[in-house]
Amino acid sequence: MPRRFGPYGGAFVPETLVPALSELEREWRTARRDPRFRAELHRLSRTLAGRPTPLYFAGRLTERARGAEIWLKREDLVHGGAHKFNNALGQGLLAKRMGKPRLIAETGAGQHGVATAMIGAALGLETEVYMGEVDMERQRSNVLRMELLGAKVRPVTTGQRTLKDAINAALRDWIASVRSTHYLLGSAVGPHPFPSIVAEFQSVIGREIAKQSRATFGRLPDLAVACVGGGSNAIGTFHPLRRTDVEFLGVEAGGYRRHGAGAASLAHGRPGILHGTYSYVLQDREGQISETESISAGLDYAGVGPEHAWLKDSGRARYIAVHDDDALRAFHWLAEDEGILPALESAHAVFAAVAEARRRPARQKIVVTLSGRGDKDLEVVGRAASR
Ligand SMILES: *Cc1c(COP(=O)(O)O)cnc(C)c1O
Repeated sequence: MPRRFGPYGGAFVPETLVPALSELEREWRTARRDPRFRAELHRLSRTLAGRPTPLYFAGRLTERARGAEIWLKREDLVHGGAHKFNNALGQGLLAKRMGKPRLIAETGAGQHGVATAMIGAALGLETEVYMGEVDMERQRSNVLRMELLGAKVRPVTTGQRTLKDAINAALRDWIASVRSTHYLLGSAVGPHPFPSIVAEFQSVIGREIAKQSRATFGRLPDLAVACVGGGSNAIGTFHPLRRTDVEFLGVEAGGYRRHGAGAASLAHGRPGILHGTYSYVLQDREGQISETESISAGLDYAGVGPEHAWLKDSGRARYIAVHDDDALRAFHWLAEDEGILPALESAHAVFAAVAEARRRPARQKIVVTLSGRGDKDLEVVGRAASR
């Protein structure tokens, strides 16, 4: 398990967290080789998470694009409505193994908080979720879900009151509570070993894509597309395919068209340290973390996982930014062409996939990871439609 991805990654944390991170790495190293842990993860992936998720041929969306075939990896069908549960399940089992009775988590769109609350309930662990006040306002249904699942939602009132501030609050809690508490980090970010652990639990996505593509069209796809917030659904898609010749396209949030950088850390940021890891960060000239802005709370983050930073610099993956209005267009395409309401995060990837399909011949195959379903976003989409 690498500490570094090229120059990126590492663990830039206060002294108090070092033992907890070492314990986590040790536990993870033994757990991943333990047949009983793997069997339990596999059992719950099937019977609780609903895996494997299907690979769906989006025939009418393909007709719209008039180019390469578009296939959807249906992570929107995972328990809780997003890929987040793949990671929450794995880390929940790790917490249990370490004998920690309490889980804490941060959440942006609320999807990771919901996933953590679900696994907390299923494993009998006390759960508290930090969430920025702004996000609580724009994702009210997920706040209610978490509460119904027995979790405590802790409003974060500092800074921009979004995901970055929620992570800060969760890290502060963890520093004071490491002995009883596992910090169930929700994306492939943060200090080592989190980026590697999250990538491995999400890699089930890419492994299934490989298997299902071979079974349905006899080979791997030409291109894999996924949206990038912190980068967990994208790294879960890319990582298992990194030694193949499948092309990778990561799609960040470009935000409102006339503003600046949106939340596109790879497209518009530069290397720096955020939340314990060295990676691309949106920051001003003095190194102050920039305010981010996106229609999708789940992509609204100034940092990105260190493995993506390295995939970008090494040229193995390409990253682009898609604006709010284009993500909204793709939301409606998928709704009307395929009868699927995607999460706004995923709609960014769908837009990019359609644009790529238009430029490619019909014999090519594109797989888009549909990271989540859109129920949580209906209000936002409705408001945008009536503008
Ligand atoms: C959280 C979330 C994302 C962004 O997180 P990643 O770690 O980049 O995958 C994307 N889509 C959905 C549906 C989400 O809930």
